[in-house]
Amino acid sequence: MSLASVWSEVDPGAMGRQVGRIRVEHSVHRSAYGTIALPFAVFANGTGPTVLLMAGSHGDEYEGQLALTRLIRRLDVSRIQGRILVLPAANLPAVVAGRRTSPLDDGNLNRSFGDPCAETPTGRIAAFITEELLPCCDVFLDLHSGGSSLRHLSCSYADLGENRAQAERTFAALEAMNAPLSWAQAGTPAAPVAGSAALRKGVIHLSGEFGGGGALNRADLQVAERCVWRLLDHLRILPMAEEWWATNPTRFVFNEQAHFTYAPCEGVFEPAADLGDTVSAGQPAGHLHRPECPEDPPVALHFAATGIVAAMRAMGRCLPGDCLFQLLGEIPRDQILRRIAAMD
Ligand SMILES: [Zn+2]
Repeated sequence: MSLASVWSEVDPGAMGRQVGRIRVEHSVHRSAYGTIALPFAVFANGTGPTVLLMAGSHGDEYEGQLALTRLIRRLDVSRIQGRILVLPAANLPAVVAGRRTSPLDDGNLNRSFGDPCAETPTGRIAAFITEELLPCCDVFLDLHSGGSSLRHLSCSYADLGENRAQAERTFAALEAMNAPLSWAQAGTPAAPVAGSAALRKGVIHLSGEFGGGGALNRADLQVAERCVWRLLDHLRILPMAEEWWATNPTRFVFNEQAHFTYAPCEGVFEPAADLGDTVSAGQPAGHLHRPECPEDPPVALHFAATGIVAAMRAMGRCLPGDCLFQLLGEIPRDQILRRIAAMD
């Protein structure tokens, strides 16, 4: 792909504070020579690591977008040691539309990090992040939520990858973020998500889910901001404010396929558990009702695994295949550390 179709008006290598735009060529009927103008901020001072902070990969996930928008306004570049790159609205057309995917190409940015990326507006954004931004970075934090269709407990996330030294640094950063749930996922993601691109480029990949349901949740916004500032402190880029000093209890968690409950048919979902509940395999998960056929009995659903209810569907009406619940399984911290120690 020609990267001339995407260019930055901000120099990621320059010192000081810059807030400008990355331009993605988008020449269409109503806008010859038009561009998508992604907001992009760079803060650089002294010496230290480089971190990329991103939100708005999915346009309907608002806590991360606000956390990074506030950070751009508040950050005093003279106080940092290192470099902070900020993309607060990564898939801008989706952000402006308040939708998961881009209205321009139906592109899901967090499924567009294939190698190579597609020649679409969303694919070009993914390619620019992969080829132009990630190679400059030591750490990448990508902020998400459950979006319009899911409500999600606040959790930080990390891909541990395959390299022991990198996994140790990744786990230390995940732990430092100190979210209520710390999700340490073994290995490298198979899907073309941002984490797969980060690991290809040797960059530590951190993420997180902070709220959802198509709304801005104040408590989840506070957790997202706390994770960002604590990560900057951990990386020794910027000491965190005193309000973030105290550590809270965290539960280490993992995810596997049996943790998901999907709708087997269409209907209205009546859940039998709430966010944060701990449930067991075989326990009732809820019912699907069809008010259009009141003579039919509801379809009973059951959990296939034991875990914490981390995400649940925010919309009542469902189609077959919709995700109704996502559990996260608890895993002792020591077990994660032993798994990392066994890497070579
Ligand atoms: Zn997302």
